Amino acid sequence: MERLYPPETASSWDRVGLVSGDPDQLISLVHFAVDPTLAVIDEARAAGADLLVTHHPLLLRGVHSVATTSAKGASVASLIVNDIALYVAHTNADVASPGVCDALADACGLVDVGALEVVDGLPHGRVGSLAGSLTLREFVERLHSVLPKAAGGIRVAGPADARVSRVAVVGGAGDGMFDAVRASGADVYVTADLRHHAALEAREEARGGTPYLVDAGHWATEWMWLHGARSELLRELAGRGTSLSTYISTLRTDPWDFVIGGSSGVSSGDDLNIDTSESSSDSARDKT
Ligand SMILES: [Zn+2]
Repeated sequence: MERLYPPETASSWDRVGLVSGDPDQLISLVHFAVDPTLAVIDEARAAGADLLVTHHPLLLRGVHSVATTSAKGASVASLIVNDIALYVAHTNADVASPGVCDALADACGLVDVGALEVVDGLPHGRVGSLAGSLTLREFVERLHSVLPKAAGGIRVAGPADARVSRVAVVGGAGDGMFDAVRASGADVYVTADLRHHAALEAREEARGGTPYLVDAGHWATEWMWLHGARSELLRELAGRGTSLSTYISTLRTDPWDFVIGGSSGVSSGDDLNIDTSESSSDSARDKT
């Protein structure tokens, strides 16, 4: 794993590598997941895993207790009691080639893929082209068909019938990379965790044009990498004449469970369905 995702390429604030477990313990089943939640740890235990590989760290901030009274403490306890080592490849997997962003670029169907931006010699994000041009709606429907389904679906900013062919991608939270996206000439930016101000300002800068925005969900955009990580690990091991059993978690760790009032085509001029008038209720009734 350290050969595939060198720990020194992780961001300085990140905490990657072995979180629990003994480097000398024998392992035969490796379980891959995006998040080391209690449910994922239970899933790994039930599967008989010896090693859980996750993208997101379990412990990122200062820890003063691992008592089971907190979820983090209960997670650490469960890992140790069940003899499951935890290994994290996070921002070092984001900048790896192939890494998290390559998996998302593949899911988007991109060819001629290159770095969206190079920082300290490491590629951040990817930009590439679709084999042919699609409408924005066709592109996102195609992406939706290959990403794991989350309750929130995929949010899109831009006209559904606009033709798109050049696509920038950043798996996980990507609203800090708009300058690089604009510089890349991308028609569409596929990422996640797009906050109101960052996304709205990007749309304002675009004056309604490109780059259109696609918020495909943090968990979904990073889950695609698990397959790549597994095959890269197995390839590394095969090179050393060994192998392991593997399992990719099917638990959805996207935190949202349902959506009310989503739309497949709301426009900015549509009725808010709320009475925003200050006049009498009679005139409000007249309007509706
Ligand atoms: Zn992430």
